[in-house]
Formats: sequence, C-alpha cells, structure tokens
Amino acid sequence: TESMDQAGFLLSSTLALACQDPMIRQSYDELIPYTERIILGGEDIKEVSIFDETGKYIAHRLRGESQNKLGQMLDGEKAKKFQELEGPNRMLCQKPEGPGTKSDDCVEFISPIRIGSAFYGSIVLRYTFDRLTRAKSVSRQRIIIISIIAMIAGIVLSAFLAQFIASGLDTLMKGTSIVSTGDLSYRLTISSRDEIGLLASRFNEMVVALEGNQKTLDRKIFEIETLFKASQAMNFQSDTEKLVHQILGMASTALKAERGSMMLLVDQTDELATKIVFGLDGNKNVTEPPVVTKIKSGEGVAGMVLKEGRSIIVNEGHSAPIFKSFESTSNFEQKIRNLISVPLKFKDMVTGVINVVNKTEAEGFNPDDQRLLEALAQQAAMAVEHARLYELAITDGLTKLYIHRYFQARLEEEVVRAKRYHAAVSLILFDIDHFKKFNDTYGHQQGDIVLVEVAKLVKLTVRETVDIPARYGGEEFTVILPETDAQGAFMVAERLRKTVETYEFPGPGKTLTVTISIGIATFPDHATNRAVLIKKADIALYHCKERGRNCSSIFNDSMSS
Ligand code: GH3
Ligand code: MG
Ligand code: MG
Repeated sequence: TESMDQAGFLLSSTLALACQDPMIRQSYDELIPYTERIILGGEDIKEVSIFDETGKYIAHRLRGESQNKLGQMLDGEKAKKFQELEGPNRMLCQKPEGPGTKSDDCVEFISPIRIGSAFYGSIVLRYTFDRLTRAKSVSRQRIIIISIIAMIAGIVLSAFLAQFIASGLDTLMKGTSIVSTGDLSYRLTISSRDEIGLLASRFNEMVVALEGNQKTLDRKIFEIETLFKASQAMNFQSDTEKLVHQILGMASTALKAERGSMMLLVDQTDELATKIVFGLDGNKNVTEPPVVTKIKSGEGVAGMVLKEGRSIIVNEGHSAPIFKSFESTSNFEQKIRNLISVPLKFKDMVTGVINVVNKTEAEGFNPDDQRLLEALAQQAAMAVEHARLYELAITDGLTKLYIHRYFQARLEEEVVRAKRYHAAVSLILFDIDHFKKFNDTYGHQQGDIVLVEVAKLVKLTVRETVDIPARYGGEEFTVILPETDAQGAFMVAERLRKTVETYEFPGPGKTLTVTISIGIATFPDHATNRAVLIKKADIALYHCKERGRNCSSIFNDSMSS
C-alpha cells in the first residue's frame, strides 16, 4: 500500500509536470498517449483522467474500456475541490465511476497542473487494490493451505510419536507386570536406541540383577530348608541308621546326585568302612546293605579326606589319579562321573566321611554343594556321635551286652507291647555255676575272660535284632525274648546251656569249661508286670541251682511255694 502511495504521488505529480506544456498550448491530443502509456505501464492504475481548469475531461482512459469520458464535466463540487489543491493529494474513492468498474477498493491521486499560481487543470490517477487484494487472498489461501498441511503433518507426526512412545511404554508396562508376578527370566527386546530403548535395557539390567539376587536367595532358603529338615529328622528319628540314611537322602536330593554313602572309622583303626548307602543303583527308597570297602587313611579320595580333614571334589570321574580302585566296587567306580567327599567331624576329630556321587545335572559339584554337604555332614557326625555315646552308655564295658538299667527299660517296653498286642514275652535269667570257685581257682582275670566268652555265646545263640541280651550283674545274664512263649524260651535256654557246657574257654595252657543254670518266666503266663516277671525267672533259676545246676527251669507255682 505504501509503495503504491509513493508511486501514485510520484506518477501524478510527474504527469502534472509533463502535462504543463501541452496544457499551455492547449494541444490536448498530446495527452492521450500519456494516458495510454500509463494504463499500459501500471497494472494497479485503473483509470487516468486529465481535466482542464473547469473540470472538463480532456483526456481519459479507463482500463479495459474503449469508451472514454472526453468532453464530460466533473461535478462542480469536485471540480472546485480540485482547483483548491496546491499539490498532489490522495483521496479514497467514493463510488466507482464509469461503467464496468466493479471494485470500490481504490484510491485516487490527484495532482493539480499549475505553473506559478496559474491553475491549468488536474490529473487524477485511480489506483485499485485489486492486485493487492488478489495477492492478499492468494497469501491467505497459501497461509490456510500451509496451516492445514502443518496441522495434518502435526497430527500425523504426533500420532506417530504417540504410537511410538506408547508402544515402547506398552512393552515396558508388559515387562514390569510380568516381572512383578515373579517371572524374573523375562527380558524386554530392545528395538530402538532412544530413551525408551535405554529404559528397556536398564530395565533388563535391573531384572538380571534381581534374578541374580533371587537365585542367591533361593539357594540360601533351599540350604536353610534342607538343614532344617535334617535337624528335624535328628529330633524325630531315634534310629541312628535310619537317620543317617535320611540325611544321605537329603544330601543326594539337595545336591541332585545319584548316590550318597557314609563311611565310618572302624573302632581303634585308621580304616574307613562303608556303613550306610543311599540310592544304590538308583533305588533311592531302600537301604541297601553296603558293599564293605575298607579304605586306609590317605588312600583314595575318602582316605585323603579322612587324613586331611578337608573336603575333596573330583569332577573328572573315575579316571582321576586320586581315585583308588577297589576290587569290590570297581564295577560301580566305572560309573562315577563326579564325586564329592566331605569329612564327618566331631570336635575336630574326623570320625568318618560322606561321599556323594554323580550329580545328575551340570558339570559336577561346586563350592555351594560342598558348603551344604559339609553342614549336613556336621549334623550326621553329631547323630553318629550321639548314637556312639548312647551305645556306650547302654553297653557293658566288659561283655558288650546291654547294661542292667537298659535291660530294665527294654523289659518294661516289651511287657507293655506284649500287653497291647496280646502277645507273649519270655525272660531268660542265668547264672554261671560255682563261679566263685572258678575265680578262686583260675583268678579273676580268667573269670573275666569267661564272662566275655559267655556273652559272645549268648549273642550267637539268640535272634540278633529281636532278642535283647544283657548283663544282669556280676556273672548273671538275662535275655528278653519278645513274642516267645515259655516252651520257645526253654528251647533257646537249652541250646544256650548246651553251647556253654560244650564250649572250650581259653585258659592257661589248657581249655576250661563252665556250666550255667537258667530260669525262665513268661508274660502273661507267670507274671503281668516286669518286676514280677524278673522275680519269677529268678525263682526258676534258684530252683535250677537246687536241682543240681547246669539245667533250665520254667517257672511254675510249686516253685514259689
Ligand atoms: P552258684 O553256682 O550258686 O551260682 O555259685 P557261685 O559261686 O557262682 O555263686 P554266686 O553266683 O553267688 O557267685 C558270684 C561270684 O561271681 C562272685 C564273684 O567272685 C563272681 N563274680 C561276679 N562278678 C564278677 C566279675 O565281673 N568278674 C569275675 N571274674 N567274677 C565275678
Ligand atoms: Mg550269681
Ligand atoms: Mg553263680
């Protein structure tokens, strides 16, 4: 608009100057080409009019029109206004003038044609804003189009970004919810290297760390559980052999191994003997009679563990040089893929060894296995030691038979059991004949040898795990015979009596003989409680002595009278 103003002022005043001469000369025809040229020269100029001093059109050109207004008169008021103008002026258009004028958006530049103070006429250039309006509308259109494109692009881009971010977040959300359910093996797939991708990889790192912690924790809980089970077994399992078997079972299961065994020091030697085996030939529920292998201290894996008191892991199988081959187990040894051997220690004394063989998974045993097995071995060692002490406490030092107190307790138990199951239980009580004299003749030491030998004969005569032989006191012995009636007991008694009678006891330079007298009483035939049962057996024994010794007597009522 500004440039159009400048152009309008300039052109109208220049034209006024140019028109001076033709106006003075009143050669108005010369003006026509001016108007023509102006119309052709500027597209914004719609109409060029030149008036004489009276306001009559002396040159006129309307763009796009062949007609002109030559000879016509301006209205008086406007003509008067023109006459008063001192210099170029600008006026907004009133109404469009002339036919064909459509736009009313226009401005007129009026310049008076003056020479000195003389007024010759006026120049009027009518400019339209058509081009500007068009340019404006084009610009507006463009702005709208660009805005629409920008908006669409914005929407598309934001939708894309939203989708992109949302899908990344979705994946993250899914990951967190899976992990929160406890599945720590879940990993996010990292598909981008942006913040989301970074977040995903951090997330994975966190889960990996978490998984590691969880595994350690699981392992610790597992160890604690295993040890807890073992200690519970210690409390509830009174049978040491079963207890150790149970502990070996736990060790094999915990270490995921095929087999476990316990070897103990053989009394007063430095040799190990296999005592209890778990899981021989994969049969894990049966206590197999162990293959008796004796291993000397320092020999093979177990021997080394015994000697050094340290655990050994062999993961190279039976081909490892530390392995000693034993005839009796060579077949089995061939099958050893890996082995862990830990010492059984009681108060820093190695009392045995636990071996666990053939881990069913992984490459072999590891330090975790060792730690757990050592802890289990500690419990097993304690159990074994308790058993040994208990055995010691209830065993007579000389004869290795049960002591009197234990006998009393067991008899009570057996009577109660017999009562409950309506069964019989017999008691044999015997005494060595004229033993005072034997001692006097051969000495007390020789007497002791006889006591030891008699005890052995008793053990050999009675049922190993059923009957309970005990040293009643001095040179008197007793045997509890569960589920045995008087006649059965009598047969056992007679067999024992004859065995002793014919046995040649080692003596000084020659063999010696002794005899025994036996009394028998049976529950419930002769007594309904422990004390009476012992009393009746004693009466029967006394009766036997009366009869002349070296005999067996079943109690009967005539004896008591
Ligand atoms: P009886 O045939 O009547 O039984 O005659 P006895 O001499 O065997 O008489 P009694 O049973 O009363 O004898 C007990 C003797 O047994 C006393 C003691 O010298 C002997 N004696 C008891 N305990 C031991 C022991 O631990 N060692 C040895 N050597 N002798 C013992
Ligand atoms: Mg006696
Ligand atoms: Mg005697």
